[in-house]
Amino acid sequence: MYSKLKDDLAAKLKAIRDDGLYKNERVLDGPQGVRIRLADGREVLNFCANNYLGLSSHPKVLEAAHQALDRWGYGLSSVRFICGTQAVHKTLERKIADFLGVDDAILYAACFDANGGVFEPFLSEDCAILTDALNHASIIDGIRLAKAKRLIYAHSDMADLEAKLKETADSRLRLIATDGVFSMDGEYAKLDRICALAERYDSLVMVDDSHATGFVGPTGRGTPELFGVRDRVDLVTTTFGKALGGASGGCAAGRREMIEYLRQRSRPYLFSNTLAPVVAGATGAVLDLLSGTTELRDKLERNTAHFRNRMTAAGFDIKPGTHPIVPVMLYDEKKALSMADALLAEGVYVIGFCFPVVPRGQARIRVQVSAGHDTTDLDFAVEAFTAVGRKLGMIP
Ligand SMILES: *Cc1c(COP(=O)(O)O)cnc(C)c1O
Repeated sequence: MYSKLKDDLAAKLKAIRDDGLYKNERVLDGPQGVRIRLADGREVLNFCANNYLGLSSHPKVLEAAHQALDRWGYGLSSVRFICGTQAVHKTLERKIADFLGVDDAILYAACFDANGGVFEPFLSEDCAILTDALNHASIIDGIRLAKAKRLIYAHSDMADLEAKLKETADSRLRLIATDGVFSMDGEYAKLDRICALAERYDSLVMVDDSHATGFVGPTGRGTPELFGVRDRVDLVTTTFGKALGGASGGCAAGRREMIEYLRQRSRPYLFSNTLAPVVAGATGAVLDLLSGTTELRDKLERNTAHFRNRMTAAGFDIKPGTHPIVPVMLYDEKKALSMADALLAEGVYVIGFCFPVVPRGQARIRVQVSAGHDTTDLDFAVEAFTAVGRKLGMIP
């Protein structure tokens, strides 16, 4: 039987290669950081990690991880409700709830799992989920698992969202689901307007804040803080795999009864192994660090403004905004890929994003600024972009 599938896959893989969409993984020969070592031994500056606060290999995080390893051991070999809950997990749930300013939180192996587990328990056939057209794959998959009616509204289109709220007036429960930050554009969801519509039409609001928790908003609490709607969002999901140390793990956080019910009914929580205690301990230490000072998110904000200003002055077409995701628009797919290759040769690691990850004709290089970068790193990158951009005729 396998030969049939094998031929099928060979043809599909060839098509992916022919379209130039085959993903090759570059192997790093060392820890994640602002400077990374490639397999060929070269050191380059990294501008494509979700290491927004520079904590992925931060000494304090490593120390907390070592301590957690010694105190709590390596693996739990159990789900939470059998024998997989330690004090370190309960402590982390309390810390993340306090950090986000909500009642309670529940841990998952990843935010992908959190999104897989938060729709189906709450929303049955007689309910409706309204979801932004550009939501993350894990929200899309999570919604597929729920029996509720699914309505996709045009990206950030509040008129379309309102029309769909009117259309679903007879639903028992409604929930609007959105990314807090849309990761291809570094663009924020219009959470103030979404919450206003939710109140007018009696809908719940769920926000996936993976690209925001820890650094967006005046104290890094995420997009609900940025828009002043922290008490109006019912459920937040987020990841520990980006700004908060970058290892793995995620959570859902929000209203007390919702979190309590998820512990009873959320399938990725009930049927998947407990988050490793070393990750729980180190993530808790990250939250302690971020609760005490806004130093890192402030530096990230300054770095982002500096990089965006200098790139704009150099003549590049940057999607406007304030998020450390900085899309350098090249529109042409081949230009984006050749520019990324040329930048790597100059010692700057960035990635070109092409269709189908972004719409056709919207190819770009997505730069991600970190609090770990120093001004000299940012300037080095701008100069490399400028040199390569001139050579390839993309800027005057
Ligand atoms: C990265 C990301 C996820 C996945 O998070 P993991 O913890 O790595 O599974 C989910 N949602 C959004 C919006 C993301 O950006």
